[in-house]
Amino acid sequence: MKTSEIHPKVKAQRLDSGALKREATLLRAMFVRYCQDHHGSRDNNLCDECTELLRYSLTRLACCPFGQEKPTCARCKIHCYRAQEKDSVRAIMRYSGPKMMLPHPLLTLEHLIKNLKEAPEKPRNRKAQTQREGASD
Ligand SMILES: [Zn+2]
Repeated sequence: MKTSEIHPKVKAQRLDSGALKREATLLRAMFVRYCQDHHGSRDNNLCDECTELLRYSLTRLACCPFGQEKPTCARCKIHCYRAQEKDSVRAIMRYSGPKMMLPHPLLTLEHLIKNLKEAPEKPRNRKAQTQREGASD
């Protein structure tokens, strides 16, 4: 798979390290597995439809307001996906998720542990906090 084809256009560098990088890796792997079994793609390539959807998903991931502190999407209280993309990606995760333990045990384990934790109400917003503190003086 050519990474350049599926790289998000915004804040892409956030996916180059830490928890977001690990989540992006797992996400790609789930897309590849789904596309192989449903669309006949080979050699870790994705069909055009899956390439577009993965680019959308990676962009949402890169733009996540929680950043590296991101909860799992299933737990998150922010609904950042469009309805159609949400349904499509959920179908991919439902199919591929259970098949990720063997090829990606550590990434899968990390995801399962995170999924046990309650997601925060909303991301920290330092600017808003400062304004509230200022107003209460
Ligand atoms: Zn596909």
